[in-house]
Amino acid sequence: MTAKYFIGIDIGGTKMAAGLVTRNGKILLRRKVRTPSKCTKKVFLSAVINLVRELIAEGDLTLKDIAGIGIGIPGVIDPVHGKVLLITNLPLSGINLAAELRKTFKLHITVGNDANIAALGEHRSGLGKNAENIVNISVGTGVGGGLIINGRLVTGSFFAGGELGHMIVQMDGPKCTCGKKGCLEAFAGRWAIEKAIRAGIAKGEKTVITKYAQGKLKSIKSKALRKALDKHDPLVTRVIKEAAKALGEACVSIMHIIDPEYIILGGGVIEACGDYMLPLIRKAAESDTFLSTVSGCIIAKSSLGDDSIILGAAASASQGR
Ligand SMILES: [Zn+2]
Repeated sequence: MTAKYFIGIDIGGTKMAAGLVTRNGKILLRRKVRTPSKCTKKVFLSAVINLVRELIAEGDLTLKDIAGIGIGIPGVIDPVHGKVLLITNLPLSGINLAAELRKTFKLHITVGNDANIAALGEHRSGLGKNAENIVNISVGTGVGGGLIINGRLVTGSFFAGGELGHMIVQMDGPKCTCGKKGCLEAFAGRWAIEKAIRAGIAKGEKTVITKYAQGKLKSIKSKALRKALDKHDPLVTRVIKEAAKALGEACVSIMHIIDPEYIILGGGVIEACGDYMLPLIRKAAESDTFLSTVSGCIIAKSSLGDDSIILGAAASASQGR
């Protein structure tokens, strides 16, 4: 009998979520735990193993019912071998994550960059279903990207492709984590939004965000940003408008290079502030008269939300199975 289910895992810097997914791409069960912080490789691996075991037990299943496990994780990943080439915040650089987990689960295991995997999820189950060319932009702490071209996920010749967050949208603009200046992420990543807000406060700009973030201005939750937007807070509104404009300009470049059917935006910042940002992003993109005449590209908020990585990871594990 063919195993019926796949497990999709979304590993983030603060949380890990796993879903039991059917062959038709339906999530039957989910589990979410905190990602162990500042831990060893061994502690991290056992946390992932426990998460999978708990999910299987909750579904009253055994390993025989599972056809494969897919993982989406931030970092530069070699998806062919399931190896983590480069990752910050987790003790996994240089580790073959698929091979490590196969020692416990004798199953087909795939690993991919989280924003790449989210693009796969959008292509299989989201707005980009049946589309040939789609681009995913995940706007969270950082900004990730994923490209589906001619129906296939494109990761590049050296697995570092699709990093849309490091597309330069302003020469000599604000400094990015990558060392360059003016990257999309340096405007739209949550770290950049937080930094711009702190700079505004230091200059004496009035804002309600200090109250909503409970004084924790080093890491401002996306929901606090949303609340401040709803109150028409001038500082947060200005910074979010800048982020939306940068995303709009990035969309223009993406449309010129790839001309996709959809550009799908997701991630914590978009989940919380997308309703406000999307019209501004579209406005910036539509200012290109050439594209507005030729392209029918739809810029939209993800309909899958957080589930895009779980579904994409399951889809990646199901390929050829
Ligand atoms: Zn950068």
